Amino acid sequence: KLSNRLQRIHDQIPDGSRMADIGSDHALLPVAAIRSGKAASAVAGEVNPGPYDAACKQVSDAGLKEKITVRRGDGLDVISAGEVDVITIAGMGGALIASILDRGLSKLEGVQLLILQPNVGEDILRRWLLEHHWVVVAEQLLEEDGKIYEIITAMPQSVSPIANVEVYRARPLQGGAELTEDLLLRMGPYLVDRPTDVFFAKWESEIIKLQGVVNSISKSDQDSSRDKAAEVERLIANLKEVLACLP
Ligand code: SAM
Repeated sequence: KLSNRLQRIHDQIPDGSRMADIGSDHALLPVAAIRSGKAASAVAGEVNPGPYDAACKQVSDAGLKEKITVRRGDGLDVISAGEVDVITIAGMGGALIASILDRGLSKLEGVQLLILQPNVGEDILRRWLLEHHWVVVAEQLLEEDGKIYEIITAMPQSVSPIANVEVYRARPLQGGAELTEDLLLRMGPYLVDRPTDVFFAKWESEIIKLQGVVNSISKSDQDSSRDKAAEVERLIANLKEVLACLP
């Protein structure tokens, strides 16, 4: 049985997709997607030998070697252009996911959907998507085993029903706070529109972490560190203002 996190990713896959799961580890997601019919075929990509072996075993034990190819390699190196229509990348930092996409840019031709689950650095990933003409079309936030996860689903701008200018349009909130593009990239344009208890819990804990950053760098006598501390303090103030204005 899939974890709630992987199940939610699975549920975003359109029926009959040709999928690639990059950083697949145990290949749980492609196995479940083939069984449910979400995927017609799948590539499970892994760069590290241990997880690669685990993926091979899982696929073989499931009797799905005909439908799922397990390939060893870095990021999107394991697929060729036009081979898949959906790519899932889950359980890594947002910066790593963005660098995998960046390095594999030519392989994204023809891909219709990216389903990404960054553990941290969601803003870096959203920024990469924005700069490379991918539109975030759905976002989910969930808590499992005391951890909070975001799932970001994106489509190429050419086929997306919405445009990035709309998704990231700065907007005032009732109560006076301004949701800037920067804050939307950090908080998630959809998540901020429908804030849940998990959303507020996430941002409370993020603010505590940011405050820790301020405390540690403001002790330095370097001008650049003091500037950075002031910048993070401004960010904290902006986040608090927005949170106070959300329903
Ligand atoms: N995707 C699974 C999940 O969400 O449950 C596994 C997540 S696991 C924490 C991250 C996996 O990504 C590891 O198995 C690691 O070997 C793999 N990985 C890290 N960098 C990678 C890269 N550049 N290319 C392919 N796999 C990578």
